[in-house]
Amino acid sequence: MSKVRNLAVLTSGGDSPGMNACVRSVVRAALYHDIKPFGVYEGFNGLLNNKLQELTYHDVSNILNHGGTILGTARCPEFREKEGRDKAYANLKAQDIDALIIIGGDGSYRGAQALAEENDIKVIGIPGTIDNDINGTEYTIGFDTACNTIIENIDRIRDTAASHNRIFLVEVMGNNSGILALNTAAASGAEEVFMPEKSEDLLEIKTKISRAIAANKSSIIIVAEGDQIGGAKEMYNYLKEYGLVDKVRVSILGHLQRGGSPSFLDRLYAALFGELAVVELLKGNADLMVGVINGRVSTCSLDLARETSPPKNMDYLKLIRKLSIY
Ligand code: ADP
Repeated sequence: MSKVRNLAVLTSGGDSPGMNACVRSVVRAALYHDIKPFGVYEGFNGLLNNKLQELTYHDVSNILNHGGTILGTARCPEFREKEGRDKAYANLKAQDIDALIIIGGDGSYRGAQALAEENDIKVIGIPGTIDNDINGTEYTIGFDTACNTIIENIDRIRDTAASHNRIFLVEVMGNNSGILALNTAAASGAEEVFMPEKSEDLLEIKTKISRAIAANKSSIIIVAEGDQIGGAKEMYNYLKEYGLVDKVRVSILGHLQRGGSPSFLDRLYAALFGELAVVELLKGNADLMVGVINGRVSTCSLDLARETSPPKNMDYLKLIRKLSIY
């Protein structure tokens, strides 16, 4: 078993709060264990274009409280081709780098596995996405901050909704997943949630909105961006056809959900995940993702993590219904 001498860390896919705290953890843990850490700028793009730089202890000072990623992130179509990955590997070898830690999502892991299958490089994934939809782990870095941002903004919307007895369709992110929508709906006291994993009966939506209008009370309805209707705007347009939008307003929270200083939970998991990734490499392990598994910070195979996972708590729907007027 050859000891890891030099490692590289990159952030890939969508950014999420806590990625910087995780980069710091990887770099500091590597230095502690006498491994030389390199940062790769702009995800797989940086590997192809040789944007690698050795990182010192102080290069990652005072970054853990900032959202986004100091390394930058990008999508890289060339990495899907072997030719692109060959270029990436040549750049890693030129610096004598024998391990790569990828902070990102399932797409990034598919890329990392392709690189490791074709070349002599150890890869470890760390789940970083606000969507919390990666298979194999109960937690992804950024989820808690994004949930907090969403509920803070819903509180503000609720102030105006209550003052005017309005019904707000609040669209939240999540890509093809309803996990952010479901969890924030349960936590924010929303009256209803629309999400991709739940079949939507258009007639039922109409009936529910009519009931809310008749009650003459304010309501918060969370709509996942990937829901079956196509988001809050589309739902509004559908209701408009039936003359049901007088009291309805749309608020699309958008990219503000991706930014901000990471919460306590995101910083903590970022520190734990980063350190464990380095320790696993030291033990000679690879082709793994670090995550929360059965409530503990541990690892699972990258094969398991190559896919997204459905929400594990669909029973929150019953809770939302029980506590709402609909
Ligand atoms: P995420 O990691 O958040 O799921 P993406 O799905 O956009 O984000 O993937 C990030 C990058 O991973 C892509 O831009 C591409 O470079 C690489 N990638 C994704 N899927 C593959 C694949 N099947 N083979 C090689 N590289 C891939």
